[in-house]
Amino acid sequence: MAKEDQFAVGIDLGTTYSCVAVWQEQHNRVEIIHNDQGNRTTPSCIAFTDKQRLIGDAAKNQAAANPENTVFDAKRLIGRKYSDPIIQKDKMLWPFKVVAGVNDQPMIIVKYKGQEKRLCAEEVSAMVLTNMRQIAEAYLESPVKKAVVTVPAYFNDSQRKATIDAAAIAGLTVMRIINEPTAAAIAYGLDKRTNCVGDRNIFIFDLGGGTFDVSLFTFKDKVIQVKATEGNTHLGGEDFDNRMVNYFVEEFKRKKKVDISGNPRALRRLRTACERAKRTLSYAVDTTIEVDALFQGIDFSSLVTRARFEEINMDLFEECMKTVDACLTYANMDKSSVDDVVLVGGSSRIPKVQKLLQEFFEGKDLCKNINPDEAVAHGAAVQAALLSEDIKNVPDLELLDVTPLSLGTSVKGDIMSVMIPRNTTIPVKRTQEFCTAEDNQSSVLVDVYEGERSRIDDNNLLGYFYLSGFPQVPLGHPLYVCFAIDENGILTVSAEEKTTGNRNQVTITNNIERLSPIEIKRIIQEAERYQVEDRKFRRKANALNALDDYVYKMEKVLKKDDISSQQRKKISSAVIKATNLLKVNDSEDETEMYEDYLIELGSLFDGVIGNFE
Ligand code: AMP
Repeated sequence: MAKEDQFAVGIDLGTTYSCVAVWQEQHNRVEIIHNDQGNRTTPSCIAFTDKQRLIGDAAKNQAAANPENTVFDAKRLIGRKYSDPIIQKDKMLWPFKVVAGVNDQPMIIVKYKGQEKRLCAEEVSAMVLTNMRQIAEAYLESPVKKAVVTVPAYFNDSQRKATIDAAAIAGLTVMRIINEPTAAAIAYGLDKRTNCVGDRNIFIFDLGGGTFDVSLFTFKDKVIQVKATEGNTHLGGEDFDNRMVNYFVEEFKRKKKVDISGNPRALRRLRTACERAKRTLSYAVDTTIEVDALFQGIDFSSLVTRARFEEINMDLFEECMKTVDACLTYANMDKSSVDDVVLVGGSSRIPKVQKLLQEFFEGKDLCKNINPDEAVAHGAAVQAALLSEDIKNVPDLELLDVTPLSLGTSVKGDIMSVMIPRNTTIPVKRTQEFCTAEDNQSSVLVDVYEGERSRIDDNNLLGYFYLSGFPQVPLGHPLYVCFAIDENGILTVSAEEKTTGNRNQVTITNNIERLSPIEIKRIIQEAERYQVEDRKFRRKANALNALDDYVYKMEKVLKKDDISSQQRKKISSAVIKATNLLKVNDSEDETEMYEDYLIELGSLFDGVIGNFE
C-alpha cells in the first residue's frame, strides 16, 4: 500500500475558521491537528501583498493593515451568483472588492505583487483547503490525498459541487461531502456510544461564524439517522460582529462627528476589536472596545455591556430559536422527546443563545462535553476512516442523512412537482410518470429545480435537458422521470420514453454556476504557480534572514578585542559586502546570491565565529 493511501482526513471548511482531523488507528481515536502556530483551528483567510501570499493566522494577523487584499468568507460566495441578493448585501461589508464575472459568477479582486488578480470563490476555498492539507501532511509526515469535507446542511446542490471543485483544485479527492451537524452527531455518537440504550433523540444546534444549522437525529444501536434539518446559510458570528460594527460606527459618528463607514482599514480594525469584545462578553458582563487612531488619528474607546450586545442582536437570536422550532415541527416531534441538546460552533458559546435554547427546551441542560470548534472536523475524520477500507478499529457507525431541500421539476401551469421532498433519507431514487402536455410532441424539456415554493420561478433552477428522438406522440403519452441523490447529496436526473427506450440524463454538474473542466485545470495550474511562488518566497526569506543573522554574528565578533587585525579587516569587508547585498533585495533572483555568499562566509568565518560563541 502506498504511504499516501494510509491517511484520509476530515476537514471542517468553515466560514471563519477551518479545522482538520484524522483517525489515529494506533490510538483508536481522533486527533485534531494543530497548525504551525500551535492552533487547532485556522482562520479561513487568504491575504495578498506586494511580496507574497499569506494563509491562515498569518493572513488574519495582517488584515487590518491590508484590508482590501485580505479575503475571507469565501464560503458565503461559493456556488452563488453575483446577482444573488445575499452577495449584494454582503458586498457592502467586505473590505475586498467583488465584481460580476462570466455567467454572473462572483469574482474577488485583489492586488498581488503589484498586479490585479481575479479569484473565484472555489479558488479561495481551494487555498484554504490546500493549507489544511499541508497542515495534516506536516503532522502526519505523509502526503494526504483524500478527505471528507463538511458543508452546512442547508448548502444547495451547486454549493456542494463547488466545494468538491475547490477540493479538487487543492489536490484532494473528496470521499464524501457530509453535513456539518451530521458530522457533529457522529462525534457526539462516538462519545456516547458506550452508554446509549434504546433510541435517543439528539438535537444538534450548530451556530458558527457564517452559518446556522440545526438537526434532529435518532441514535439507535450503531445507526445515526437524520430526522430533520433546518438552517440559515447566512446567520452566525459574523452577523453579530456586523451589528456591533454598525452600532459603533454610529456611536463614532455621534461622538466624534466623523463617518468611518467608507474606510475599509478603519472598519476592519473596528471589526477585529468587536469580535474580540464579543468573545469576552461570553464570560464577562462588560468590556471596553479600544482602537488607537481608528480614523484621522482619533482614538476610539467605548464600554459595551453584555446586555447591550444582546439587545442589538436579539432579533437574530430569536431567528435562531424560530429555526429550532421549525426543525422540530418538521420532524413532528415534541420538544419533550428530545433527549440531548448538543452545542456546536463557536457562537453557541454566547450566553444569551444558550439561555434562549435552554428556555425553549424547558430548562433542559445543554450538552457541552464536545468541543464546539472541533466537533465537526472530529466527525468528518471518523467518516473518512469509515470510508477507508484499509483502516481498522473504526467504531461501527452507520449514517442515514437527509436531503435539505425539496427537488422537483416543472409541470403545466409553472408549478413545481416535487419528486423528492426535503428531509428524505439519502441515498434515494424516485421515479414518476409524467405525460406529454400537447399533441405531436417528439421531445420534452426536463428541468430540475430545488426549493420549497409551489411557483416554479420562485425556486432555484439547477439544470435541464431534452429527451428527444421518439416519434411524435399524442397528448398524455407517458414518460418516466427519475431523480436519484447519492451519498454526497448530489443529484442525477434521467428521463425515459419506454416504447423507443430513448433515455437522457443529467448529473447536475454542468449548470451555469459551476466551473468548467478547462477552468478547473487553469485554476489548478494557477494554484501550482502559487505554491512555487510561496516556496520561492520562503526560500528567499530564509536566505535573507540567515545572511542577516550572519552579519549580526560578524559584527559581534568585530566588537571583541582579541581578534587579529587581519581577521578584523577580512570580517569588516565581508560585513560591508553582505550589507550591500541585503540592500539589493528587490527580486527573487537574489536568493541564490544570498545562499552562495552565506556558504562562502561559512567556509571563511565559521571557525572564527564559533570561537567567540
Ligand atoms: P466556527 O465557524 O464554529 O469556527 O465559529 C466561529 C465563530 O464563533 C466566530 O464568529 C467567532 O467570533 C465565534 N466565537 C468563537 N468563540 C466565541 C465566544 N467565546 N463567544 C462568542 N462567539 C465566539
